[in-house]
Amino acid sequence: MRASQFFISTLKEAPADADIVSQKLMLRAGMIRKVGAGIYSWMPMGLRALRKVEAIVREEMNRAGAIEISMPVVQPAALWQETGRWDKMGEELLRFKDRHDRDFVIQPTSEEVVTDIVRGELKSYRQLPKNFYQIQTKFRDERRPRFGVMRGREFTMKDAYSFDRSAEDALKSYDNMFAAYQRVFDRMGLTYRAVAADTGAIGGDRSHEFQVIADTGEDAIVYCPDSDYAANIELAEALAPESARQAPGAEMQKVSTPGVKTIDELVAFLSCDIKETVKAVVVEGDAEDKLPVLLLVRGDHELNEIKGEKLAGVAKPLTFAAPESIVAAFGAQPGSLGPVGFKGKIYADRSVAVMADMVVGGNEDDVHLTGVNFGRDLPEPEVADIRNVLEGDASPDGKGVLAIQRGIEVGHVFYLGTKYSKEMGATFLDMDGKPKHFEMGCYGIGVSRILGAAIEQNHDERGIIWTDALAPFTVVIVPMGMKRSEAVADAAEALYQGLLAKGVDVLLDDRDERPGVLLADSELIGIPHRVVIGDRSLKEGKVEYQHRRDADKTELAAADVLDFMF
Ligand code: ATP
Ligand code: MG
Ligand code: MG
Ligand code: MG
Repeated sequence: MRASQFFISTLKEAPADADIVSQKLMLRAGMIRKVGAGIYSWMPMGLRALRKVEAIVREEMNRAGAIEISMPVVQPAALWQETGRWDKMGEELLRFKDRHDRDFVIQPTSEEVVTDIVRGELKSYRQLPKNFYQIQTKFRDERRPRFGVMRGREFTMKDAYSFDRSAEDALKSYDNMFAAYQRVFDRMGLTYRAVAADTGAIGGDRSHEFQVIADTGEDAIVYCPDSDYAANIELAEALAPESARQAPGAEMQKVSTPGVKTIDELVAFLSCDIKETVKAVVVEGDAEDKLPVLLLVRGDHELNEIKGEKLAGVAKPLTFAAPESIVAAFGAQPGSLGPVGFKGKIYADRSVAVMADMVVGGNEDDVHLTGVNFGRDLPEPEVADIRNVLEGDASPDGKGVLAIQRGIEVGHVFYLGTKYSKEMGATFLDMDGKPKHFEMGCYGIGVSRILGAAIEQNHDERGIIWTDALAPFTVVIVPMGMKRSEAVADAAEALYQGLLAKGVDVLLDDRDERPGVLLADSELIGIPHRVVIGDRSLKEGKVEYQHRRDADKTELAAADVLDFMF
């Protein structure tokens, strides 16, 4: 590609609303442009890198025997009602109506559509196993879109879905995808860790996240440097011994709420807007015994949706419609009910970041706790220091102590069992002639997020440092003063043609800009191999080669540069 025929639009400064380095560099390198909150255009430079990610993912999916398919972005609500996710998914699911007043969603994932296809197409065990994948636009109305493409609302995901005869076979499909994911992230040159993850409501015992290690990651990973143990923090906490769970950190403070009966009173009590910061708390006063009850609600429901009658249905098992049900749930005696409070942290800015545990009891010695999980039941706290599993705790496998690091979730493999096939009545005829529900797995890769994660791991003060695998261009040729020197122009052109002939993604930066601008741009954009051609060295038949990672240049004979690079 000749730069004069391409589109390079670099910025000196990142826009003020960019928070982390990958987001700043993607904007400055002209890879993306913001259109709205969590919504970006992929500019030509960024799109080239995105296509590199897609190509690697596609190759490894095909190699693993998955079959490419393309499912619609816009999906009828009826399918989502079949599985109940239309009701369960909350505000992250973007819904809209068409001109006939029919309900639709924009896919955040596609279990429903793929299961619908399979129940119509796969009839016999002879057709199994099958694994369908797509690389497609997703939309999730994230509560807090941020960090550029890392947590976008519209983003590109690779989603694959396996269908098997038996649980045993499904786990083989799972292992097969797991290995394919390792190849994908190895090829991209990323430093990552596969960690065990919670299977949540779906159950089953297999789920792993692929986490790219980075301090800016939103996730916390718990691992043991002396063994294979690695889990995301939610799972590590869920499995932690009781003793580890009881001391959630010195930052926590218990706050009781005497006399508080309404949400308004609670808001006043906390001097903050609960509705804004912690959507998940409802206070229901009971007129009879004047006890306020704090209800911690799972999901992102609006307060008015979960008040009153609807309450009990929305958020089991953590909500209780009346004090009596709390008493029943915890086996406490009605007489022993005292102030109801919560554990959490009130920050200097008066926001309540964490509502950790519901505390019910008459006094300090009579306290009953029930745990809730950050992220699952409540928004993830802004600060990472409130954790039940701490650095230095014993590893569950007894082989050492735990360490914690931060990660960016770039992939997720999940054994689903028969959850979706049962809900949607998807069966095949097994060898014995009897209908059986498909055993399923689902496997996601954050295709667009990978680019942000790769940059978080690979950059310096001058810009991005791409691996060959992901770089928008592998080589850049920078001719110094090619307008003035025919020799430079000829040498640049000859090298350019030579690289093209070898199938190398090469950019010839023939823009009429000062050399300093060309060099700075190539470093900001992060092209791994750079060849500078100038009159002075060319007189001795030499050009200058520099790898983006290296501090030093190498003088090479112009004729040798091709062999030197590849
Ligand atoms: P997260 O925990 O970051 O919200 P998730 O667990 O909700 O992600 P999955 O449902 O597992 O995401 O989707 C598969 C992959 O899609 C994730 O591993 C991640 O790489 C990517 N992904 C999810 N949400 C986003 C987003 N808002 N923007 C970009 N990529 C995303
Ligand atoms: Mg999510
Ligand atoms: Mg996740
Ligand atoms: Mg996930």
